[in-house]
Amino acid sequence: MKNVALDKHQRPLRDLRISVTDRCNFRCRYCMPEEIFGPDYSFLPEDKILSFDEIERLSRIFVSLGVRKLRITGGEPLLRKDLPELIKRLNQIDGVEDIGLTTNGSLLKKFAKDLYDAGLKRVTVSLDSLDEERFSNMSGNRGKVKAVLEGIQAATEVGMKVKINMVVQKGKNEKDILPMALYFKEKKHILRFIEYMDVGNYNGWKLDEVISKQAIIDLINEIMPLEHQEANYIGEVANRYRYKDSDDEIGIISSVTDSFCSSCTRARISAEGKLYTCLFATKGYDLRELVRSNQNDNEITAFIHSIWSNRTDRYSDERLNHTNQSNQTTSHKIEMSHIGG
Ligand code: SAM
Ligand code: SF4
Ligand code: SF4
Repeated sequence: MKNVALDKHQRPLRDLRISVTDRCNFRCRYCMPEEIFGPDYSFLPEDKILSFDEIERLSRIFVSLGVRKLRITGGEPLLRKDLPELIKRLNQIDGVEDIGLTTNGSLLKKFAKDLYDAGLKRVTVSLDSLDEERFSNMSGNRGKVKAVLEGIQAATEVGMKVKINMVVQKGKNEKDILPMALYFKEKKHILRFIEYMDVGNYNGWKLDEVISKQAIIDLINEIMPLEHQEANYIGEVANRYRYKDSDDEIGIISSVTDSFCSSCTRARISAEGKLYTCLFATKGYDLRELVRSNQNDNEITAFIHSIWSNRTDRYSDERLNHTNQSNQTTSHKIEMSHIGG
């Protein structure tokens, strides 16, 4: 493929994460703390958000540059009107091998069937605790465990493959590690533990609130022995571990204590159409402006190609130089709720 883009560290462009809204019905403290994202916060007006036509056009361009996997995210993507219609359109793009969706699961019961019929075969549901009180606390008094579990059940019943994401934060939900592992082993869903990250500017991140990959493994291994597994493919984000007594697995996303920038092939587009080449980027490139101008596809392709070709991002590899162990960067980072993890 003549257009395939390699960045300055020889990493190809393979994955595109598309945020379809900056809004969310939760206020997880590590992502959209209520104090900042309260009633006075200005979310994007509809005309500033990429339309389905624009998302489809950009996705085709990204596929021509080597992207094979699309992930729909947010904010909460299920708040975006007619989302199954977008899934259907993206599924018809030649070259797209896989479409995923990351959701907080609260509305999944309602949309699981339509999403599946539109071509969504995989979903990742975020759930940080099975304890109603702790989950409510972590989600800014919005989340109900029962509703999320019903969403997971509905997605499973229609035939989707479901993975679970759990952010682990010291002092908040470390006591949920084992109950979550046991519950989802039993349900046969892969649970992925995510080290709490210094994304955005407002979550007050501190290194000592991170529970490391090794600590999580040690805790589970003591009760349910684990065995490390090879990655399924180059660039897989989660480290895989299999329970020795079964075929069930867990994953650990260790952005803080064992970073994986060298195989990072992910680009992200925010709801307002900015391209970010790293989760921790301080600068985005305005694609909305381009698709709304009279630039043709070749011109937009060349622009994205040049951005990717000049990419040098390795934030997690260099994290401690940036953060000095707390979330004190000098530049303003993009918010997680704008680019969706
Ligand atoms: N609202 C959807 C959800 O929660 O699944 C999609 C967007 S959310 C930003 C995507 C993922 O990022 C979720 O799994 C969430 O738990 C994770 N996330 C958000 N803030 C995080 C942080 N500070 N550290 C680690 N993961 C985080
Ligand atoms: Fe919303 Fe997801 Fe962020 Fe929680 S992690 S506030 S559910 S966007
Ligand atoms: Fe990729 Fe940036 Fe995360 Fe490194 S820090 S893995 S470059 S998104």
